[in-house]
Amino acid sequence: MSRSRDEEFIVKIFTSGSFLDDGEIPPGTRKEILLRIGENPNVKKVIAETRPEYITSEKLSEAESALGKKFEVAVGLETSSDMIRKDCINKGFSFNDFIMASEVARLEGVSVKVYLLLKPIFLSESTAIDDIIHSISDAAPYAETISINLCNVQKGTLVDQMFESGDYRPPWLWSAIEVLKKGKEFNPEITIISDPVGAGSARGPHNCGKCDKDAAEAIKIFSLTQDAGVFKDLDCECRELWKKALQLEEYTFGSPVIR
Ligand SMILES: [Zn+2]
Repeated sequence: MSRSRDEEFIVKIFTSGSFLDDGEIPPGTRKEILLRIGENPNVKKVIAETRPEYITSEKLSEAESALGKKFEVAVGLETSSDMIRKDCINKGFSFNDFIMASEVARLEGVSVKVYLLLKPIFLSESTAIDDIIHSISDAAPYAETISINLCNVQKGTLVDQMFESGDYRPPWLWSAIEVLKKGKEFNPEITIISDPVGAGSARGPHNCGKCDKDAAEAIKIFSLTQDAGVFKDLDCECRELWKKALQLEEYTFGSPVIR
């Protein structure tokens, strides 16, 4: 890390699982990790990823007292639709489980970050857009920050198999922009962010190749400023193609018409 000595920063703990799960991180280890991070005066806040079922008053107050500074839980909700979460992503918790966990966090003064996933498999581009716009509004009352992950094709997954056989295309960056614009318009009070990882590559979110860099840059600027005005001057000939693809995919049951 090349940070100046007194620059404040946020620590994110991602275990690819649940930091608050005792089976994964024994309570003593968790306490020790938080105590040590808490000793660093430059750490402003710690964000830890966890499934909702591990968010209990007991665990949160233990974590907060070990850390001694602002603690935030990050939940991979992916969508507010229980059907899409179950059928397309295969995560065994409900939107209601998330709401209950968020209420526990509120009572403990712990902030909540939510991850949503734009375009899991089996959804057409326009269904995926609608899903996330709805999900932002549904989750907004229960979170301080909503982070939109744009689906990437990871090797060895079902997404990969479908991608290889031409049955899956990662989301267009135009779709991501649409989701951020509408999400912010309907929920101006909430912070909505997105890090367009892998933008511009075939296996990542992409447009036509010519405008990907500008689109990704605009998404990054929006995430910092929350000002959707950054998208206003963004245009490319592929925008019309994207609009056509949104319409046509309704007739191909979600199979991509444009790669
Ligand atoms: Zn383009």
